[in-house]
Amino acid sequence: MSQQNQTQNVPSKPQDDPLAIHYRAIAIDMHADTVQRVLDEHVDLQQQLTDGHLDAVRAKAGGLDAQFFSIWVEPQLFGSTGPRAVKRADDQIAAVRALAEKHPETWQMATTADQVRQAAENGKIAALLGLEGGYAIDERFENVERYYRMGVRYMSPAWSISTSWAGSSGDDVGATRGLNDFGKSVVREMNRLGMMVDVSHVSDKTFWDIVNTSTKPVVATHSACRAIADVPRNLTDDMIKALAKTGGVVNVIFYPEHIEPGWSQKKKQLDSEIAPLVKQASDSEPGDAVRKKLARDRVRTEQYGRRLPAVTVSRVVDHIDHIVKLVGVDHVGIGSDFDGVQATTADLATVADLPNLTRELLRRGYSESDVAKILGGNMLRVMEEQ
Ligand SMILES: [Zn+2]
Repeated sequence: MSQQNQTQNVPSKPQDDPLAIHYRAIAIDMHADTVQRVLDEHVDLQQQLTDGHLDAVRAKAGGLDAQFFSIWVEPQLFGSTGPRAVKRADDQIAAVRALAEKHPETWQMATTADQVRQAAENGKIAALLGLEGGYAIDERFENVERYYRMGVRYMSPAWSISTSWAGSSGDDVGATRGLNDFGKSVVREMNRLGMMVDVSHVSDKTFWDIVNTSTKPVVATHSACRAIADVPRNLTDDMIKALAKTGGVVNVIFYPEHIEPGWSQKKKQLDSEIAPLVKQASDSEPGDAVRKKLARDRVRTEQYGRRLPAVTVSRVVDHIDHIVKLVGVDHVGIGSDFDGVQATTADLATVADLPNLTRELLRRGYSESDVAKILGGNMLRVMEEQ
């Protein structure tokens, strides 16, 4: 765990120590891509890993109580529909279940707020499932219930490539595509089942169709504020207000590209400069398409770390502050995107650094009860309201 900032707040009583406050709170991370590492890189999450952002040892040190594992299907590698997309999602779900079965001393599968509280009480980390991108339902209505039964408790309709039924913020089609009739029926089915609708990655038009269709609180599992960092992945102030009106929560992402003004442009510039290096790494990797992607990401991680501006946890809290000023403290949470990004902030670099977030919140005057809401209390409420 990072030792910095330890001297900033000299506690008057041991129970006021920021670390004690942090450990007392139930911390829920709404989004990490770690399970893909388990499948593709065969990492052992029980060991403290020397790379990546999350494992059992660092999660414990960071006071994490619940992790929503992102069940992410990369459409270019596995298709945006069809049996390969379904299998890729099913394999990830099986990998999370296997982890919890093999290590019940650390992990406990959960689908409800009560189960999360129970896991925290027992000193375990609750493992939960969220489907990212909606590709795995394969345009079939009945698959929403299938995934609900498999334990999935949130789904975003599209990742960076639009589905036939929902637009993405990441492609040209998304600019004009919202939810079609099938998409609206999917949202209603999610409401009926009690699966949260996640607006992270969807297009603006899809966002508005979702908040106008859903009868339950809507969440963004890993997004930030466009007023601070102007990227299409982020939410405008009007969107944040509309989402809060549903009773939902914006879970702030820790990824520099989405939180630091101008970082996205600098990254684009660097991406074009390092394109030959990335291609070379990919070409010289003898393995399959998944191994090649890992080789490309390794180059990016190294280059971003060396050549892009450092961002700190203070910027994450700027986004939290902005949301609190707009809609109050009941509609904000955290969604790290750990192991789904090739750069993190300097002092919130891995899950072990989570206490630095609490330190910064306390430094800015948030009370212990505010901190508890932000770290996970608000999401427990939303899970109960589904
Ligand atoms: Zn994502």
